[in-house]
Amino acid sequence: MKSANKIFASLGTTVFTVMSALAAEHKAINLGQGFPDGNGPDDVRAKAALFLDDQPNQYPPMLGVPSLREAVASHAKRFYGLEVDWQSEVMVTSGATEALASCILGLINPGDEVVLIEPLYDSYLPIVRLAGGIPKLVRLSPPGWELPRAELAAAFGPKTKAIIINSPMNPTGKVFTEEELRFVAGLVDRHDAYAICDEVYEHLTFEGSSHIPLMGLPGMRERCLRIGSAGKTFSLTGWKVGYVTGAPGLLVSAAKAHQFLTFTTPPNLQRAVAYGLDKDDGYFRTLAEELQAKRDFLANGLRKIGFRVADPQGTYFVSADFKPLGFTGDDVAFCRHITATAGVTAIPVSAFYENGGPGTFVRFAFCKRDEVLAEALDRLTTHFGKR
Ligand code: PMP
Ligand code: GLN
Repeated sequence: MKSANKIFASLGTTVFTVMSALAAEHKAINLGQGFPDGNGPDDVRAKAALFLDDQPNQYPPMLGVPSLREAVASHAKRFYGLEVDWQSEVMVTSGATEALASCILGLINPGDEVVLIEPLYDSYLPIVRLAGGIPKLVRLSPPGWELPRAELAAAFGPKTKAIIINSPMNPTGKVFTEEELRFVAGLVDRHDAYAICDEVYEHLTFEGSSHIPLMGLPGMRERCLRIGSAGKTFSLTGWKVGYVTGAPGLLVSAAKAHQFLTFTTPPNLQRAVAYGLDKDDGYFRTLAEELQAKRDFLANGLRKIGFRVADPQGTYFVSADFKPLGFTGDDVAFCRHITATAGVTAIPVSAFYENGGPGTFVRFAFCKRDEVLAEALDRLTTHFGKR
């Protein structure tokens, strides 16, 4: 029999699925895969139910229903002062994952170089390779996850087509500063490249940090495709509603791929997300404040157990160093060990690196109910004998 596509065939099942299955097998508390354990805002879900019944359910427009494209544009104006034309500069996708695939497949030709920053979200590399792109990997390292500017500059060259940049960043919790983004913008500009900006955690930033879209920096308006996700902004990860914003010519490139990947996204969910994006500032503030309290609770608890933890500035995640606990295996072994014996699941940070990660860092998701986080800490405390 002839073999299947070699890029996908060479890959295993995603680490998130593997660890969630392991958590279920051991009845462990799953702080691995990043999803909230609530059911999202009642009013947004109620709108989805209403629109399922009283609005059309046939194919919506390929770029998305007008109400959501308008809401994405006015959201960009309200939060970042970006002027966006909803008709020519916004496209709705089936989650940010599809948005990323559409942007990458729409832009990259075989042989184009794509700069990627590790640790990276797991869908980037396979899709870049599927497009025939050549990944140029730049590593960030704990505990500071600082941007290694010389290495980043060296990764750019005449064949660079694009950089994929994720801020706030999974799994590090890093929020890129304006200064760092200016540096990236300089490279993008100098090398006549594009930036695919994965900004799914845009509203999940904590005291002292705020999200800045690269697109808003000088010279970047025509070079960026900016991606958001209703999954994160409304704590509804199963909905898979994403959106891309970009200058008309760039957006058309992504739309050419989108039309053959999914073409559209369920219309009632799009309309409900439009309602959600129009919610007042208080909604977005509360989302971040509630998450920050959870971050503090989990990070402090992990510190008491003996993990070395730096507070993340954004996202759902804290990446903790288990080295001080004296465990001798690597991060994969550690995650399996605590799942099976302590009843708590995390994700090995090495899964976000192509050729081996820092080795002793694991990612815990704190987007969970307070009692779930408390029980997880309790289990880990008992396991590591800190009581
Ligand atoms: N990018 C990053 C960095 C993520 O963490 C996620 C979360 N799954 C995604 C993209 C994909 O988002 P979505 O669920 O909307 O496809
Ligand atoms: N973004 C989520 C995470 O990083 C998982 C997404 C997925 O399961 N594919 O945990």
